Amino acid sequence: MTALSTEVPALKVERLRLARFTTLGVGGTSEVWTVHNHAQLAEAMRAPYRVLGGGSNLVVADEGVPERVIRLSGEFAQTDLTRDHALSGEEYVTGWVGGGVPLPGLLRKLQKLGLSNLEGTVGIPAQVGGAVWMNAGTRFGEMFDGLHTLEIVTPQGVRVVSPAELQWGYRQSGIPRGHIVTRVRLKLAPSTPQAVQDVMDQADMARKGQPKMRTPGCAFKNPGGIGAGKLIDDAGLKGYRVGNAMISHEHANFIVNLGGARAEDVQAILDHVRRTLNTPLELEYELWP
Ligand SMILES: Cc1cc2nc3c(=O)[nH]c(=O)nc-3n(C[C@H](O)[C@H](O)[C@H](O)COP(=O)(O)OP(=O)(O)OC[C@H]3O[C@@H](n4cnc5c(N)ncnc54)[C@H](O)[C@@H]3O)c2cc1C
Repeated sequence: MTALSTEVPALKVERLRLARFTTLGVGGTSEVWTVHNHAQLAEAMRAPYRVLGGGSNLVVADEGVPERVIRLSGEFAQTDLTRDHALSGEEYVTGWVGGGVPLPGLLRKLQKLGLSNLEGTVGIPAQVGGAVWMNAGTRFGEMFDGLHTLEIVTPQGVRVVSPAELQWGYRQSGIPRGHIVTRVRLKLAPSTPQAVQDVMDQADMARKGQPKMRTPGCAFKNPGGIGAGKLIDDAGLKGYRVGNAMISHEHANFIVNLGGARAEDVQAILDHVRRTLNTPLELEYELWP
């Protein structure tokens, strides 16, 4: 009988274009540190770093970033959904789910198991850690609806906290930037696959009208309750194009990559929108660096 290998893959340090890791498909070459366990993560955090999740909320500069870019893999990309009987009461508390696990695949598994609380986040193309870090969500639910415990790694060490210990709220977790969500335990409500699917269908319906092209999601926050998309649309900016980046015809608050767009094209569009509307609109996504 062959023994199962428990060997941890080596720490990988490579110079890679970040475009391949972002939903917009933009971003220059940077030093990417792919870490598989806590020892490798601690090593990666010994110099200035950024942590990359699903890259679904980022516009990364064409020159890349000067810091190390940490990607969670190995034990941080594993999913243990078995019920932890010691922690579970009426609610179903899982084993550890890695911060590097893609959220869409996790939600598919939870739906099949008929486990509820996170289905409202369907359609968000994040990793678990990134989605937790900003408490991503929709009007059907958000990440903190389904969290029991979080493991957070900082340059000072590892902390295990409950949501009650964090100042979380609308689209924020209260976790400082640079503190890395490495794993979480989920707190789920036993339901049925059909009931979970029904909420997912409603959340999917609400997304109709969003472009299917490469994009980092909504560009601007809604100023004072008015839809940023409506303001941009009313200003006649749908279809406004710089290089290969364009304001989507389907939804004016989305900038899409028509193929080969550059970060500077996206930046030029953002500047043009602000100038045209004469409003200091706040960005939804992050610009790196
Ligand atoms: C088509 C589309 C639809 C979207 N719809 C929604 C929506 O409905 N609701 C919503 O809230 N958002 C939405 N977004 C935005 C985006 O998906 C969320 O902001 C998501 O939380 C980003 O997670 P990520 O893993 O991709 O993080 P990234 O984009 O990789 O990073 C974003 C920030 O999170 C930090 N981060 C990433 N991983 C970790 C980690 N493990 N620990 C600590 N910090 C980390 C990064 O350093 C960075 O500061 C959408 C985006 C797209 C492209």
